[in-house]
Amino acid sequence: MLQTEVNLTQSDTFSLFTAAQLEWLNKARRFADTIPLADCLKSDSENVFRRDLFEAACKQGFGSLPFPDTYGGSGGDYISFVLINEEFARRCMPFMSSLGVHVLCQEPVSRFGTHEQKEKYLRPSASGLFLAAFGLTEPAAGSDTAALETTARLESDHYVLNGTKTFITSGGSANYFIVMARLADAGITAFIVDKESKGFEIGQKFDMLGMRGYATCELVFSDCIVPKENLLGMHGEGRKVALSSLAKGRVTIAAQATGWAQGALDTVVTLLKERVKKGEIKVDELETCKYLLGDLATRVASARALTHQAAYAIDRGAVDVTLAGMAKIQATDTAMHVATEALSLAGKFGAEPDLLLERIFRDAKAGQIYEGTNQIQRMLIARSLIK
Ligand SMILES: Cc1cc2nc3c(=O)[nH]c(=O)nc-3n(C[C@H](O)[C@H](O)[C@H](O)COP(=O)(O)OP(=O)(O)OC[C@H]3O[C@@H](n4cnc5c(N)ncnc54)[C@H](O)[C@@H]3O)c2cc1C
Repeated sequence: MLQTEVNLTQSDTFSLFTAAQLEWLNKARRFADTIPLADCLKSDSENVFRRDLFEAACKQGFGSLPFPDTYGGSGGDYISFVLINEEFARRCMPFMSSLGVHVLCQEPVSRFGTHEQKEKYLRPSASGLFLAAFGLTEPAAGSDTAALETTARLESDHYVLNGTKTFITSGGSANYFIVMARLADAGITAFIVDKESKGFEIGQKFDMLGMRGYATCELVFSDCIVPKENLLGMHGEGRKVALSSLAKGRVTIAAQATGWAQGALDTVVTLLKERVKKGEIKVDELETCKYLLGDLATRVASARALTHQAAYAIDRGAVDVTLAGMAKIQATDTAMHVATEALSLAGKFGAEPDLLLERIFRDAKAGQIYEGTNQIQRMLIARSLIK
């Protein structure tokens, strides 16, 4: 039911891109074509992560797309990464969120890591041998990262971590974790924790409303031993490490949300056309929803434009945290709005899993919450205006 051809607005936008960027998009499209809709539906309904599909995506170069080839990266730019994320989200590919977080985790290793850490973690991340997860949120510390309770202490040649991280995407399947913990006298500090570390355990697995099928779990550290060489950045630099990756991560989420919004819009337009063709709806009955469709299409195009602007800033080497936050708000709120209206327009058909509308509705809600809620993003934008 979902259209796989690009619509007019997208085609116009696409003339702005380079041949290399469009090649990444076409590659993503060809790869997505090999994944049956049934696989997307099953991963959601059974809440099962398709590690095999994640690995296949990495073999195509998507898992390290925006990193230079020095440590196995694909040498693409962020615009290309944004284009493939929109495409994967539009079709609810069951590895999409883990792929986004995987790239988010490579960012601080690439930026703050030692040569040895880059060799050890980036190469296998690029090939798909390793999957990475990001451990920031705790039961009592979500938006307020200053409230982090996970502790780290240095003992001779290793650190000892204690605490719990919660709602960690890919937590149940990842090989290594970027973990923020509080080091006495230094403050929040970043570590790379291997899945096999002594004292590390995967906790509760969550049965989610949306973003299901991503092995979202608790991580439990009980006197967890982390070798000294797995310190990421300097003591007390954890906040800087986290923020550097989250700013780019928000642009990735904006791209995914633009894809959800486009997917929902395409589906409902196709559905309405089919119903007219079958004589179930008269063309003049559609008059009342034309303004609505025009409004939805405009919102999707503006979410895309802001997302691309934020991605261009990244590619120019000027990550703009405010712009990234704006793109995340605009795109995820648009996805939620378009999915809600599309469900209304679809009526009883909206409940059909095959249409992906109810799925996009559930996923879009999560998009408004994770990687910094949209309320918090608005506060940060306001703060940047009045500081
Ligand atoms: C699907 C999903 C995947 C996730 N994956 C990860 C992951 O991989 N890694 C990770 O570390 N975390 C992850 N998270 C956690 C996510 O980042 C947090 O849920 C998010 O940061 C919000 O924190 P919280 O849930 O504790 O909400 P809270 O911080 O408790 O906020 C609750 C509400 O209060 C509002 N609020 C809070 N403080 C203020 C304030 N000062 N002013 C105004 N309003 C405020 C918020 O906007 C929100 O509406 C994931 C969450 C979801 C839903």
